[in-house]
Amino acid sequence: MKAIRVHELGDPEVMRLEEVPDLQPGAGQVVVRVKAAGVNPVDTYIRSGLYPRKPTLPYTPGNDAAGVVESIGKDVTRVAVGDRVYVAGTISGAYAEQALCNESQVHPLPQRVSFAQGAAIQVPYATAYRALFQLARAASGESVLVHGASGGVGVAAVQLARAAGLTVIGTAGTERGRGLVAEQGAHHVLDHHAAGYLEQVLTLTGGRGVDVVLEMLANVNLGRDLKVLAQGGRIVVIGSRGTVEIDPRDAMSRDAAILGMSLFNISGHDSARVHAALGVGLENGTLHPIIGQEMRLVDAPRAHRAVMEPGAYGKIVLIP
Ligand code: NAP
Repeated sequence: MKAIRVHELGDPEVMRLEEVPDLQPGAGQVVVRVKAAGVNPVDTYIRSGLYPRKPTLPYTPGNDAAGVVESIGKDVTRVAVGDRVYVAGTISGAYAEQALCNESQVHPLPQRVSFAQGAAIQVPYATAYRALFQLARAASGESVLVHGASGGVGVAAVQLARAAGLTVIGTAGTERGRGLVAEQGAHHVLDHHAAGYLEQVLTLTGGRGVDVVLEMLANVNLGRDLKVLAQGGRIVVIGSRGTVEIDPRDAMSRDAAILGMSLFNISGHDSARVHAALGVGLENGTLHPIIGQEMRLVDAPRAHRAVMEPGAYGKIVLIP
């Protein structure tokens, strides 16, 4: 089978399409014929060598994929050969024609969800769900600012929050992105490059501020997020690409919480709960991943450049 292989960490061009041996499942394992693989910003951090998690070389990048179960090992009971599935992490890497997974990493993909959409579930939707409900404990009737709503995690967060009965304010940096955020169910959409846009968060909430902020670029926004937070508000730091200065008094005066998260830390128990909830939303259509670009597996270097550029529009996926 063909797979993207990385023999040394560095620029996107270290990713090369190579022929590798077909995968065989061990006990409790599943081999998935990959129809689409999701590209996430974290894949680029790991490939560059600048991320704390270092892969054992050579490796195949990617956590997210969707496809059809090709073979199963001894004692596998949750899926059968021929099932449509999405994967929430793999043992062997996702940018390939096949992926080896533990049985617990494989979840049913409803007929209404395409393989490309299936490759856009794990990192974006599990992150958004965990941030909103397991960390911020967002509740119906509350308000949320999805700060960076046009990309993978943001779109997922808007759909999840809207379906759960929150008032949703989403931001994007382009007109196309703002159109997408509105279509996905945000009640209000702001431009995170416009002067004074965060003051509108106060206006939109009657001066009270938002209950929850999901922050995609904390190094730019964290200090200002605190100033538009309601009493008892919670900020979940999902993305950050540097350091930031905050005034702790803004948090103290609001009894506010700043919660960091890394999806890599999620327990098996919490992950099972996340996917039980996502499965229902995918089945009933409240969750519908948006695919902005499809590229060939061989174009993985181009995909890594694209995912780090401004002007996000849903997800980029690779098609083997
Ligand atoms: P993405 O698809 O590339 O989207 C990035 C988002 O950030 C876009 O909506 C973009 O908007 C927005 N953005 C750009 N400038 C901004 C600004 N000044 N203020 C607010 N938002 C801004 O990436 P993603 O997959 O959604 O992930 C978002 C971030 O979370 C990334 O840094 C990623 O590494 C991180 N992440 C962390 C975890 C975790 O476990 N902690 C999990 C998943 C993702 P425009 O392009 O429209 O300007």
